[in-house]
Amino acid sequence: MLNIVLFGPPGAGKGTQSERLKEKYGLVHISTGDVFRGLDPESELGKLAKSYSDKGNLVPDEVTIQILESEVSKYPDAKGVIYDGFPRTTAQAEALDKFLASKGTEVSMMLSLVVPEEELKKRLIARAEVSGRKDDADPAIIQNRINTYNNSTAPVADFYRAQNKLSEVDGVGSIDDITNRLFAVIDGK
Ligand code: AMP
Repeated sequence: MLNIVLFGPPGAGKGTQSERLKEKYGLVHISTGDVFRGLDPESELGKLAKSYSDKGNLVPDEVTIQILESEVSKYPDAKGVIYDGFPRTTAQAEALDKFLASKGTEVSMMLSLVVPEEELKKRLIARAEVSGRKDDADPAIIQNRINTYNNSTAPVADFYRAQNKLSEVDGVGSIDDITNRLFAVIDGK
């Protein structure tokens, strides 16, 4: 299986690039952010997730790991999976390793999109116009998401670096250029 963790701060282009990788390599794309946004807003789980995501805070690991595992289990015949927005904590990364090992597979690689903070802020504000996402529209929430990334999520890269699975990719440039950089890394493995 080709299991790719597509990593990077909010606004790095993970969603856009996931669609490209999905098409080229025939993978399933799982975005935990999309899964949370797709929950029934009236359900307990939907309300819980929204209470965190609207503020730009992480949904607790226990809930997120369960959601992720049940999502992956929907695709028993997948050739591989792109993990977009997961894992976001070291505990999630450890849980993913265990979960995949129980299925006789593993994370193949982490591709980390590198984008400077000022560029991220510009992209998210522009995206708010089309996404309608509350967490894209407010500069204070954007800053909180970036801080959360720096404090809680960035260390996840070290987890995969230690396994020799991390590749950093320049996430600035045209969408096509960035896609080609990602293809080059995957094809070179
Ligand atoms: P995203 O669409 O990836 O920007 O995620 C939107 C929001 O969903 C985040 O700000 C978090 O509140 C929540 N979320 C998504 N993925 C995770 C995760 N792996 N762990 C915790 N919270 C998450």
